[in-house]
Amino acid sequence: LHWDITLAWGYQTGAGRHPDRAAIIDDDGVLTYAEVDERTSRLAHAFRPRERVGLLCRNGRAFIETMTACTKVGADAVLLNTGLSRGQLAQVAQDQKIDRLVADREFADVLPDVPAFFTDEFESLIADGPTTPLPRRPPRGRLIILTSGTTGAPKGARRPEPASLAPAAALLSRIPLRHGDVISITSPLFHAWGLAAFQLGLVLGATLVLRRRFDPAQALQDAGKCTAMFVVPVMLQRMLETSHRPKLRIIASSGSALPPKVAARTLEEFGPVLYNLYGSTEVSWASIATPEEMLREPGTAGKPPLGTRLAIVDDQGKPVAPGGTGRIFVGNEMLFDGYTNGTSKESLDGLMSTGDLGYLKDGLLFVAGRDDEMIVSGGENVYPHDVEDLLSTLDGVTEVAVLGVPDDEWGQRLAAFVVGAKTLTAEQVREHVKANLARYSVPRDVFFVDELPRNAAGKVLKRQLRDDH
Ligand code: ATP
Repeated sequence: LHWDITLAWGYQTGAGRHPDRAAIIDDDGVLTYAEVDERTSRLAHAFRPRERVGLLCRNGRAFIETMTACTKVGADAVLLNTGLSRGQLAQVAQDQKIDRLVADREFADVLPDVPAFFTDEFESLIADGPTTPLPRRPPRGRLIILTSGTTGAPKGARRPEPASLAPAAALLSRIPLRHGDVISITSPLFHAWGLAAFQLGLVLGATLVLRRRFDPAQALQDAGKCTAMFVVPVMLQRMLETSHRPKLRIIASSGSALPPKVAARTLEEFGPVLYNLYGSTEVSWASIATPEEMLREPGTAGKPPLGTRLAIVDDQGKPVAPGGTGRIFVGNEMLFDGYTNGTSKESLDGLMSTGDLGYLKDGLLFVAGRDDEMIVSGGENVYPHDVEDLLSTLDGVTEVAVLGVPDDEWGQRLAAFVVGAKTLTAEQVREHVKANLARYSVPRDVFFVDELPRNAAGKVLKRQLRDDH
């Protein structure tokens, strides 16, 4: 959905329809729809049309207000990942030609050469902001989001501009959010998933609950006052380690694969309220699994929502036989417009590659993992997810990552990184795989580690694991 529609339009019309409803609840308090509209109209005067504004903020009002102010004046917004290193941010700022930064004070020194507004100055910027009218038809600002950088340097992805609410309808065809929901967004707003939650919430006139930092106990306490919660799988996992189980209508997870063990526990302890969206920065979404589907077929990523097509093809682009594993291609209204460096993802008959492998079973999608993470050991294909899902069922194992490392004899061999199992031995890990999967799936290297390196959106950084290995 075009961000003009959901932001400027969203708060303006929201201010007309339900002015006193809470729009944002964050660490600094509550703002109503009317307040957000008024504040962002003042704040918009601080930006210039066509200016490139980089946002480097944790979740909270300043993030949303900056994006909304940008749309009101027609500035571009580049959503920066707070987890990037100084060097990466400098590179991204240069690549994306950022003119102005909006940053939390903790990031004050990361881009010293870029003029900045700090979010702790917002109250005075807003109070001093003129109330003179804004242009009625500002230029269309562009929205650039960064890929996670799991497979290389983060790339800028241009969001498409479909001028309709059909994309919202697509998500709502599978996730039953509704008008007046109170949605806790625990995933970062700069990531495609947090952004989707925020835009969807706004279309619905929902109240968004945002915290600067994720804390599992706080998140569950907030959830007690919410009807829905958007998470990434690792957050769900952390929440399962605490004891509070508030009643929610919807827990929506995305951003990375949802381990079946985490899904099963969530469904058991929170009830049939879990939704699993499979998508990426580039394709937005490919499929969504409902609670019923995950109860019936653990591990599934569900079905394509309204207006979405899926195809599983081989290396030549031909459909694979029913049930066969192949490359996942997807078509929907939210396929991105290309990377800002001029490249794009591979396309096929209007569908775009997700970069993942998977298969369909009874119309339900199963994601085997990234194409480039498939391990070829002694000529046999091994999907890391299969081994990870199996190992995560071992007693005490809380997290696990499996990857291929170069091997003189076999081309690649498997390395498993296991968290949480205090008494387990490497031999027991291998035995467990040997008893359940093909012999070439057995990890030769087994490491017991305290934690897995993850990016700000909770995704395991396999590249880093491989480099440190
Ligand atoms: P980069 O392109 O910079 O390497 P990235 O692809 O990791 O970054 P994202 O777009 O956030 O960045 O990640 C999308 C990928 O995450 C998907 O292609 C898929 O591999 C994985 N993924 C996301 N959601 C799910 C899900 N529900 N089930 C399985 N895998 C998922």
